Amino acid sequence: MSYVDEVLAQVKTKNGNEPEFIQAVTEVLESLRVVIEANEEQYRRDALLERLTTPERCILFRVPWVDDKGQVQVNNGYRVQFNSAIGPYKGGLRFHPSVNLGILKFLGFEQVFKNSLTGLPIGGGKGGSDFDPKGKSDREVMAFCQSFMTELCKYIGADTDVPAGDIGVGGREIGYLFGQYKRIRDLYEGVLTGKGLSYGGSLARTQATGYGLLYLTDEMLRCNGKTLEGKTVVVSGAGNVATYAIEKAWQLGAKPVTCSDSNGWIYDPDGIDVATLIDVKQVRRARLTEYAKARPNAQYHEGKGVWTVKCDVALPCATQNELNLEDAKALVANGCFAVAEGANMPTTLDATKYLQESGVLFCPGKAANAGGVATSALEMTQNSERLSWTFEEVDSKLKTIMVNIFHNLDDAAKKYGMEGNYVAGANIAGFLKVADAMSAQGIV
Ligand code: NDP
Repeated sequence: MSYVDEVLAQVKTKNGNEPEFIQAVTEVLESLRVVIEANEEQYRRDALLERLTTPERCILFRVPWVDDKGQVQVNNGYRVQFNSAIGPYKGGLRFHPSVNLGILKFLGFEQVFKNSLTGLPIGGGKGGSDFDPKGKSDREVMAFCQSFMTELCKYIGADTDVPAGDIGVGGREIGYLFGQYKRIRDLYEGVLTGKGLSYGGSLARTQATGYGLLYLTDEMLRCNGKTLEGKTVVVSGAGNVATYAIEKAWQLGAKPVTCSDSNGWIYDPDGIDVATLIDVKQVRRARLTEYAKARPNAQYHEGKGVWTVKCDVALPCATQNELNLEDAKALVANGCFAVAEGANMPTTLDATKYLQESGVLFCPGKAANAGGVATSALEMTQNSERLSWTFEEVDSKLKTIMVNIFHNLDDAAKKYGMEGNYVAGANIAGFLKVADAMSAQGIV
């Protein structure tokens, strides 16, 4: 049995109840076969793949807090410190009822390669809780965040592990988490990214994942003789990533016509209006039905459906496994020629394969959405320097990073005889740096 197959079998046995983690490991190891086979003897002797697929540390803790009725609630808290070979652990915190250890292991594993691809010195981690911020008062969210940080603060630090936001964790939550860290540890340091501008945040961090997604998509299209100019774009999600992807799509001359949340989706033939979307989702924290009320031509549909809309480019920006084989077939049938993942692993394995075999340009999330973590690393640099850069300075660095990421993965795919396979290219380019650092640091 090949080394890759051996490790995949072990991962499936050891993590049988964690389907998302197995899915992520399978996707990565399958596409690394050529690279692993070229160094099989050394990697096998050093158990490199076993170490790469096992988190350095998983922390699980209890998060008790008191709700507005005086009732004590208890949630699970987690931090997965996956790999620190190339820098301190870095990766978001997700607050969503679906959060469990398997989901965070998949996200932490992906983060290792993503962070490596940015070219910046950051390792991979991920954390969060099954707490649902939806429908909670500000006081309840603060009580939860303070309890969560009371435990988490023992394991993180500016040079150890630097969390950021993710689903359900935005500026409000980062503020409460930072306040509690500072209070307990008595350290004013860059322990979290995505902070507010008044206390160490970076300009352009809020926009970074969505903007970065579009910078990379634009470069991928240009390198394939196309542009975004005049193209119809479908976007899923209505959160941080989706909103700023929509904004940058407009700025690059495209027309984004959809967005969605966990209840339903919007088709706006005039193009999604960013100001209305921000007002509905960020200011009023309301449902997308409110968007349709404010825009007479927009249609609201319950459930899922953005992938049935005719488009040139599709950008899944909501959550994992939201674009399946049936959706991929609808996209191809409607003439979609490029898919770039704003969310983490939004496309199922069979859908990815179908899109690639149908000639659709496909860029995986670990490259396409790396702009968020890259800008988080720029926030860490500004915090260390005690300086703040201008929006333009951060945005231009972000653009350079995204263009470089695309060329790194494009070159890696070509070098290993898989031209145009950006999934393989991203995995190979991300892996080589981490594997090299792990080998140099001995058996740890
Ligand atoms: P937000 O919480 O801001 O937004 C998430 C959006 O997706 C919301 O519109 C939400 O709907 C919708 N959504 C969440 N879960 C589901 C579900 N199970 N089914 C349908 N819709 C769902 O999160 P972000 O925009 O920050 O994150 C989106 C994706 O991007 C995630 O995969 C995240 O890991 C990834 N990502 C985020 C980065 C960042 O910088 N924020 C960086 C890199 C990747 P509703 O409004 O109803 O909750």
